Parts: sequence; structure tokens; C-alpha cells
Amino acid sequence: MKVDLNGKVAVVTGGGGILCSVMAKSLAEAGAKVAILDLKEEAAKKVADEIVKAGGKAIGVAANVLDLESLKKAEAIVKAELGACDILVNGAGGNNPKGTTSKEYLMPEDLVKKTEGVTTFFDLDPAGVGFVFNLNFLGTLLTTQVFAREMAEKGAGSIINISSMNAFTPLTKIPAYSGAKAAISNFTQWLAVHFSKVNIRVNAIAPGFFLTEQNRTLLTNPDGSLTARGNTILSHTPMGRFGTPDDLTGALLFLVDDSASSFINGVVLPVDGAFSAFSGV
Ligand code: NAD
Repeated sequence: MKVDLNGKVAVVTGGGGILCSVMAKSLAEAGAKVAILDLKEEAAKKVADEIVKAGGKAIGVAANVLDLESLKKAEAIVKAELGACDILVNGAGGNNPKGTTSKEYLMPEDLVKKTEGVTTFFDLDPAGVGFVFNLNFLGTLLTTQVFAREMAEKGAGSIINISSMNAFTPLTKIPAYSGAKAAISNFTQWLAVHFSKVNIRVNAIAPGFFLTEQNRTLLTNPDGSLTARGNTILSHTPMGRFGTPDDLTGALLFLVDDSASSFINGVVLPVDGAFSAFSGV
């Protein structure tokens, strides 16, 4: 499959991060001019520099996906420097400890005695839960409002949202992140239908388990060995390994390419080593 994105402008939010920096680079390698948007301006600029050094065209732009004004400012910069957006990857997202329980299961003894430092379901902080919902769901919706307008006007475009395994079946401990990513999968379908008459395709990638800064301490110990949770995940991943960011490249290029996936719209594509296909037995 030869994907040629020459002449296209791609915007990648969260592009300073681990998975989306690799996505930004693969879009640039396929010929797209890439705008890397991130809360961390330095991280965005570093990825852009690496693309430029490799012969591509890219800019790093500071943007907060939760702030409409910041997004509008970023959009004006992208348009002036690269042109109107053709491809949008809504990658900014993540979890927060305040939306996370300490244990997988609530045990009867947890109701009797409060253990210092242990967050039960009953201790979850509404602000923490709200933060995770907003970052993943609202951040995708607001960014799409800002960047899809011109796509709709010219009647062409492709949007990729980033869902998760949590969206299919929630993982223990992370109800806010699971719910937020389920909302992303649902929104992907909703938006695909809503934008179908203006010829914008909307699909999502659901990465399986990738070792990144976001989850490193959850999956591995300081000496590199697997935690109990890391072990459970690998034993439920029939291919027996964590993903590497490059594993997402084929799915991304396939879904953004108007000839390769011309009639594919509203799907959530798992890239997970068969984790979501495995019942555990
Ligand atoms: P990461 O933390 O390396 O990257 C996320 C990036 O988003 C960071 O650079 C961060 O600065 C940026 N960001 C955070 N808040 C922002 C905001 N308000 N506005 C703009 N940028 C903001 O994480 P990652 O693992 O590369 O994750 C990328 C995406 O993939 C996320 O949506 C994540 O939920 C999803 N995901 C990751 C995994 C995994 O195993 N790592 C699995 C499934 C889904």
C-alpha cells in the first residue's frame, strides 16, 4: 500500500507525546505537512524539528485542547504557515490518578477501615473524574469544532480519534478513563454519521497496551520487570508482547488515505495483538 499525502496538511494533537509523535512522523514521511499541537510547546517543537531534520515539513504549536481560544489561535497559525487542515488526529488524552481507584475490587474490609493512601470508589474525586472526561472527550470535540469547519466547507477531510481497549470492556481501577474512551468510540460513530454529507470520514484507532510514560509505573517495576498488572495484560494478549508505537503506523495511514479506506467510516480499529478478541480462556 503506497500512501501519498503530498499536498495535505495534518494536525496532530498530543503530538509531543509518545504515540502521537510517531504518528506525526509517519504522516510526514508519507508527504503531509504536519502541525504538532501540544500543551507542552517544547515537546511539540522538538518533534517538529526532528521531522524537519529528516527532510519533512512540520511546525510545533502550543495548544490546549480544552481551551477554545487557544485552539483558534493554533488554527490561525497552522493555516498561515501550512494551509487549511485536511487530516486531524485527536491524540491528546490520558488518565489521572484522581479518577483511579487503588484496588481492583472493593472488599468488605475496605468499608470497615479506611486505609491511609487507599482510594476506594467512594473516595473518587469528582474534579479528577471530570478532568479525565474533559481531556479525552471534550478535548476531541472542541478540537474538531475548530479544525473540521474548513474541511466541511471544502467537502473533504479525514479525522482520526484515539480510543482504547477500555472502550470495549472497562479495565479495573480506571472508571473515568474507561468511560471517557467509550465516549470517544461512541462520538466517532456519531461524528461519522453527522459529517457524512460533507464528505469527512471519521474513524478511531484503539491501541492495545503500549509501554509509555503514562503507564510505565503501572506495567513495569523500576528494575524493568513486569508488575502484577503488566503480567495480567500480557497473559491476555495472545501475541504475547506490548505494542510499539510503530505498530500504529499502518492503521493510521490506511484510515487517513482516501483511496485505501474510501468507504470506511465510523469504525474503531483495534491495534492490540488480539487482546480485545481473547476471552481469557
Ligand atoms: P503521552 O502522555 O505520551 O502523550 C499525550 C500528549 O498529550 C502529551 O504530550 C501531553 O502534553 C499532551 N496533552 C495533555 N493534555 C493536553 C491538553 N489539554 N492539550 C493539548 N495537549 C495535551 O501519551 P500516549 O501514550 O502517547 O497517548 C496518546 C493517546 O493514546 C492518548 O489519547 C491516550 O489516551 C491514548 N492511548 C494510549 C495507550 C497506551 O498504551 N499508551 C493506549 C490506548 C490509548
